[in-house]
Amino acid sequence: MITRNIIALSVFVATFTIATEQDDQFEENDALISQHMAIDFAKVQSQSNTNDTSEVTQWGSLTLLDANVGAGESATLPWYSGHLPGGFRMPTPVVVLRGKQPGPTVCLTAAIHGDEINGVEIARRVVQNLNAEEIKGTIISVPVVNMDGLWRKDRYMADRRDLNRAFPGEIDGTTASRVAYSLFTEIIRHCDSLVDLHSGSMFRENSPQLRADLTIEDVADIAKQFGAISVLQSIAPVGSLRGAATAAGIPTVVMEVGGPYTVDLALVETAVKALRSYLSAIEMLPRSFFWSSPQPVFYASQWVRSRDGGILINKVKLGQQVNKGQLLATISNPITDQEESIVAPFNAVVLGRAQDQFVSAGYAVFNLGERRSIEDLEQQGQELKAKAVVKNVEQLGLNTELIEEQTKSTSSSIATDATKSTN
Ligand SMILES: [Zn+2]
Repeated sequence: MITRNIIALSVFVATFTIATEQDDQFEENDALISQHMAIDFAKVQSQSNTNDTSEVTQWGSLTLLDANVGAGESATLPWYSGHLPGGFRMPTPVVVLRGKQPGPTVCLTAAIHGDEINGVEIARRVVQNLNAEEIKGTIISVPVVNMDGLWRKDRYMADRRDLNRAFPGEIDGTTASRVAYSLFTEIIRHCDSLVDLHSGSMFRENSPQLRADLTIEDVADIAKQFGAISVLQSIAPVGSLRGAATAAGIPTVVMEVGGPYTVDLALVETAVKALRSYLSAIEMLPRSFFWSSPQPVFYASQWVRSRDGGILINKVKLGQQVNKGQLLATISNPITDQEESIVAPFNAVVLGRAQDQFVSAGYAVFNLGERRSIEDLEQQGQELKAKAVVKNVEQLGLNTELIEEQTKSTSSSIATDATKSTN
């Protein structure tokens, strides 16, 4: 069971990650938010524990969103996130397949960022040919979480907040926080595992990849079961659905596919294969799904940024293997006519890249992956977390005694985790 200490620790760590992960946006009051989040995570955890014991019933119908879905049935249920003024109600569709036989509940969420639509199509294709009569367990899919953003082709909510920095949310918080709270309490708490579908932001694109915190045993366990997909060690950003759900005992991975605004069918199909591999690996599908090369490949990843900015022209493709020193892109200054070359700092795979566009100085252009063993990544993640705790305690302006205390408790929890993983 996750203790409050570990939950608080993960929040500290996530605050650090916000500075390093591209998908993130800084908030002025991150430190204060993270303090509040620690309390909220604890609240959600205790609710989740209560649910664990009260919901142990014989296999039969599923009660979700005030509806009953019988064993062997499928349904599309309306979810009202409750953020619109009285009199205005817009249902968000939730697709449910309740298997005839018992099994785990796997949840899919897409378009938490309204401009990321590859996931919407992936979620549709995954359930398209499935018959509830034939599956074991339950699939709950929310193909468009951020309906507001989808209509406006916009990453954010109508209140300009990032929904994926608002979890687990508050019943009386900001608009984004209320929607997050509603999704989390009404739907997510029913899941045994969760795959949250995303695409690159700001005209960036990603090869199909999982982002998973491999230092968490339950998360590492599911990340290994998607077949031949890239898996990146990644600590969840503060307020993300991935972080909040995992902290509440629901191991979650993010699947990144392609770029925003458009649909890339080849990448979508790869992602669908990976998801079917997962459902098959946990024995939910009637027939085994085989992928020719079933092993995942694990990566540590690093962003390469522009020095001066200008017009970016890529010289390499997504997914391409590149050698140290190889030219990745040129950036030309439209005024001075000077040209900057971006070269690979190490042998790598291009896991993400900015599309050809105007970039500012310091823009994250390439996400390069270096192949590692899962054990290496677990250790690296633990070390990063230990450093992040100290850094964040300093940033919060806490006194030295507290820093030492926090460092000690981090060391002991790392020792415990290391013991666990080797046994
Ligand atoms: Zn996203």
